[in-house]
Amino acid sequence: MALTAAASAREILVRLHDVMAARTSAQAKLNAVVDIIGEALESEVCSIYLLREGVLELFATRGLDAAAVHVTKLAPGEGLVGTIAGNVETLNLDEAASHPDFAYRPETGEERFHSFAGVPIIRRERAVGVLAVQHVEPRRYDDVEIEALQTVAMVLSELIANAGLIDMTGGGTTRPQSTATARISGFKLVDGMGAGVAVFHQPRIVIEHTVAEDIEEERRRVYSAFDKMRDQIERMAAQAEFGVGGEHDEVLETYKMFAYDEGWSRRINEAIDSGLTAEAAIERVQQRTRMRMREIDDPLLRDRMHDLEDLSNRLLRIVSGRLGTAAQMGLREDSILLARNLGPAELLEYDRRRLKGVVLEEGSLTAHVTIVARAMGVPVLGRARDLRRLVAEGDKLLLDVTAESLIVRPSTAMEEAFEAKLALGQKRRAAFAALRDQPPVTKDGHRVTVMMNAGLRDDVAALDLSGADGIGLFRTEFQFLVSATLPQRERQQRLYRDVLDAAADKPVTFRTVDIGGDKALPYLNHDEMGEEENPAMGWRALRLALEREGLMKAQARALIEAAAGRQLNVMFPMVSEPWEFDEAKALFEAQREWLAGRNRKMPHEIRYGAMLEVPALAEVLDQLLPRLDFLSVGTNDLTQFLFAADRAHPKLALRYDWLSPSILRFLARVAAPAQALGKPLAVCGEMGGRPLEAMALIGLGIDRISITPAAVGPIKAMVRSLDRAAIMAQMQEWLAAPPSRDLRGVLEEWARAHGVVLD
Ligand code: PEP
Ligand code: MG
Repeated sequence: MALTAAASAREILVRLHDVMAARTSAQAKLNAVVDIIGEALESEVCSIYLLREGVLELFATRGLDAAAVHVTKLAPGEGLVGTIAGNVETLNLDEAASHPDFAYRPETGEERFHSFAGVPIIRRERAVGVLAVQHVEPRRYDDVEIEALQTVAMVLSELIANAGLIDMTGGGTTRPQSTATARISGFKLVDGMGAGVAVFHQPRIVIEHTVAEDIEEERRRVYSAFDKMRDQIERMAAQAEFGVGGEHDEVLETYKMFAYDEGWSRRINEAIDSGLTAEAAIERVQQRTRMRMREIDDPLLRDRMHDLEDLSNRLLRIVSGRLGTAAQMGLREDSILLARNLGPAELLEYDRRRLKGVVLEEGSLTAHVTIVARAMGVPVLGRARDLRRLVAEGDKLLLDVTAESLIVRPSTAMEEAFEAKLALGQKRRAAFAALRDQPPVTKDGHRVTVMMNAGLRDDVAALDLSGADGIGLFRTEFQFLVSATLPQRERQQRLYRDVLDAAADKPVTFRTVDIGGDKALPYLNHDEMGEEENPAMGWRALRLALEREGLMKAQARALIEAAAGRQLNVMFPMVSEPWEFDEAKALFEAQREWLAGRNRKMPHEIRYGAMLEVPALAEVLDQLLPRLDFLSVGTNDLTQFLFAADRAHPKLALRYDWLSPSILRFLARVAAPAQALGKPLAVCGEMGGRPLEAMALIGLGIDRISITPAAVGPIKAMVRSLDRAAIMAQMQEWLAAPPSRDLRGVLEEWARAHGVVLD
C-alpha cells in the first residue's frame, strides 16, 4: 500500500501545491490531479466529476476512456457518483456493481473495475463534485486512503472555486439550480411576516487556502486559536456574554468538554501534518465528524454535534481573524437573521429598521430572545431545521410566521402572493391606526381602558402610535435580561424616568422584576438558585426578590426617585399569599421613608398592586383586596397553573382554551369582590389582546386590559362595535349553564350575529 501515514498525504499535497501554483489551465490542472492521486493510490482509475448546470459531469480521468470526458453526465442521486454528491457522503465498495445505485455507462469502459471509492468535493457544505478511484481487483480501501482522498477533495474545492469551474451561486446538489425553492417549517414564536436576504448571525468562513506553506506556522496558529477559544468559553461561563437562560448552561458545559477534548485538537494537528492550512484542517476534521455523525441516528448525539459545529466555526473564525457576528458588520439591506439561538442582548445589537425577521433552530415561547423580539415587533420562527444546509448567505427569504414557514429563494409568483398578504396586513393596520384618537367606548357608552404592555425604552413610542391609555404592565426585568451585569440603581432609575417622561400624563404601572426560574440571570448566583425541575413554579419573581433584599431595595429606590413629583404605580408579580404583598409593600415604604428623611423629592402618591397569577391567591381575596390599590390578572401564568399546562410547551399550546368555562368562571369569581370593593381590576396577559377573548372579559365586567401594542387597534375596533350590556347578560347565562358546544364557537356566533368586529 502506497499510503501508510499522514506523510504520504503530505507528499500528495506538496505535489498538488505545485500543480495549483502552475500557470496552466484549470483543465490541465485537473488532469494533473487525477494522475497524482492515481499514482499515489496505485489505482487504475482516478476521476473527477464536477457539478455543471445541475448535473455531475466527468471533467478529468485517468484510466477511464478519455472520450467519456465531458460526455458522461449523471444527475444528482444517479449512479454511485450521483449518490455520493446527493447525500454528501463517502462510498467505499469492494464490488461497485453490486451496489443498488450502480449505473453502468458503456462509454467509460469501467466494467473491468471492481472496487470503487468516492468522496464528495464540498464547498460551503454542499457537494459540488466527486473524486473517485477504482481498482480492477475487488478490495476495500483503508481509512488512510479514504482520508487522503477527502483531504485532496478539499484542495480540489479550492482549485475549482478559484478557477470558476462551478457556478457557486447555483450552489451544490442539495439545490441543483440557483432558482430551486425550499420551504422550511417551524414553530410560531412571534407572529408576523417579513422579507429580506439571509444573514447568518455567525457568518461561515469560506476557506481560501487549503495547502500549507509552512506547517509549523499553521500549527502555531491553531494552538493560539485553541487558547483564545478556551479563554472565551471560560469568560462566557463567568459572565453573561453568552446570553441568559437555563439551556445555555448545558451548552456551555458541552462547549467546555469539546474545547478541552484532546482527540479533537489531535485530529486537527494530524490534518495539519498532512499539509493543510489551519483553516482547512479544522474544516477537514469537522467534515469527517459530520459524515460519521450522519450515520448515527441519535437525537442526543445530533444535538452535541450541533455544539461541536458551533465551536468548530468559532475556532475557524478565531484562526482566520474574522471574529465579528453579523451585527458588528451591520445589516446593509432588509434582512432575515438566522441563528441557532440568540441571547436577548445579541438581538438588540441589530439595526431594528433593517431586521425584518429572525429564524432560530431552537427557541421557545418564553425564551428571552422571544420576549425581546416581541417587544421589538420582529417576527420570529423557531425550531427551524437544516438552516445551514438549505439556506446560503444572501439568499432571498420570505418569512411568514403566521403560516409557520420560511420560503427560501421564492419564485416570482410566491413573492407576489407574499406581497399581497403583507399589503393586506398593512391595510388592516392602517385602518386600526386611524382609530388612534378614537376612545374605546362601547356602543352603549361604556368607556373601556385599553393599555399596552412594554419593557424596553423604545416601546414607549408605541403609546402614542397606538393611542393606548397608558402602560398597564411595564416588565422591568427586560432591562435585567438584556444587560451583561446587574443594572445598577442609577441605570434603572434613568430608564424609569425616561419611560415616565415619554408617557407624559398617561399612567404607567411598573412590575417589579419577574426573574428567576427559566428567566435566570447568569450574573445571579447559580448555586444559590440550584437546579430547578419546575422553574415556572420555582424560586422566581417576588419569591426571589423578597429574599434578595438588596436587589428589591435598589429597584424600589430607583422607582421612587424616578417618579418624583408624579404618581408611581408598582405591582408585584407572582404574589401567592397576602403576606408576600405586605412584605413587598413594606420594603417599598421603608425606602420611601429613607429617601424622604434625606429630603428627596417624593412621588405625590404611590399605588401598590398585586398580580394574580397563582390560583391560590383567588381564595384569599377578601384578605388581600382591602390592602391593595389595584389588581392585575396575569392570564399567561394563571392559565398554566389552572390547567397544569406549561405555557411554553408547543404540544399544549392549543389544548386548553382561554374561552373555557373554567377560566371564565374563575375570572368572574375574581372580578366580583374586586368590583364590590371598588378596586380596579385589569387583565394583562396575552388573552386580553385577542378580540374574542377581550369581548368575553368585558362580558365578565372586566373593563381594563393591558395588551401588546399591535393589538390595541383591533381591540378598540371590537370595543366600539360591542353592546356591553348585551354581552354581560349573555355571559351570565353561559357561565351559569355552559353550552354543550365549545364556548368559543358560541361566542363567535354571538359576535357575528351582533355585528362585533373581530379582526
Ligand atoms: C402573565 O403571566 O400573564 C404576565 C402578564 O406576565 P408574564 O407574561 O411576563 O409572565
Ligand atoms: Mg407572569
